[in-house]
Amino acid sequence: NTFSEIDLGHVLNDNIKNRCKYVKPTPIQRHAIPVALAGRDLMACAQTGSGKTAAFCFPIISGVMKTTSSLPSYGRRETVAFPLALVLSPTRELCCQIFEEAKKFCFQTGVKVAVVYGGAPVYPQLRNLERGVDILVATPGRLTDMIERSKVSLAKIKYLALDEADRMLDMGFEPQIRKIVERLDMPPCGRRQTMLFSATFPTEIQRMASDFLKNYIFLSV
Ligand code: AMP
Repeated sequence: NTFSEIDLGHVLNDNIKNRCKYVKPTPIQRHAIPVALAGRDLMACAQTGSGKTAAFCFPIISGVMKTTSSLPSYGRRETVAFPLALVLSPTRELCCQIFEEAKKFCFQTGVKVAVVYGGAPVYPQLRNLERGVDILVATPGRLTDMIERSKVSLAKIKYLALDEADRMLDMGFEPQIRKIVERLDMPPCGRRQTMLFSATFPTEIQRMASDFLKNYIFLSV
């Protein structure tokens, strides 16, 4: 019932304790983190406030730390970011919240986080991407735009988290999300681990789960 019982490594554990001041895992964290650390796909029904951000961030950070860091590759004229993990979220506000939390979790881990969202100028976001990004937090529309401009490549994605999937569907993002996942299902993308979080579990989310997840564990808290 403590974070140190979960194998997250001492840097991440220090951040959890000293930067975030989390004393013990919330129920979703207690159940989801070990499942995700074991490499399993996950469908989790969890509300806002349940601690779901950490539930998907900790295993992603832990996994990324074990992978060699991805520096941007310099093409002839432009820089392309190759994140290892992608977090999709419905709104700018949620993306920024996840980004702020993830930065705290990543302190002194060497893992780089960046955020892109619509309704804001593209260029400052691009400049941040050029510094290198391991974990990219994004709204589906702006991410699609960045991919089409060849500023982001999904070729190295190993982790995909869909946060508030039901809200993303309500906002009409399903076609864009499906296109993004289709890209991830095609070469040169390799094996990936997918985590789907939703407050509710209607038919459309069940369909997404069976389309996007492989041999997944279902959690409801
Ligand atoms: P979330 O559901 O991810 O939006 O998290 C809701 C709030 O709970 C955020 O402010 C988190 O920083 C906080 N939180 C997440 N996990 C824990 C924990 N284990 N102990 C205390 N607070 C937490």
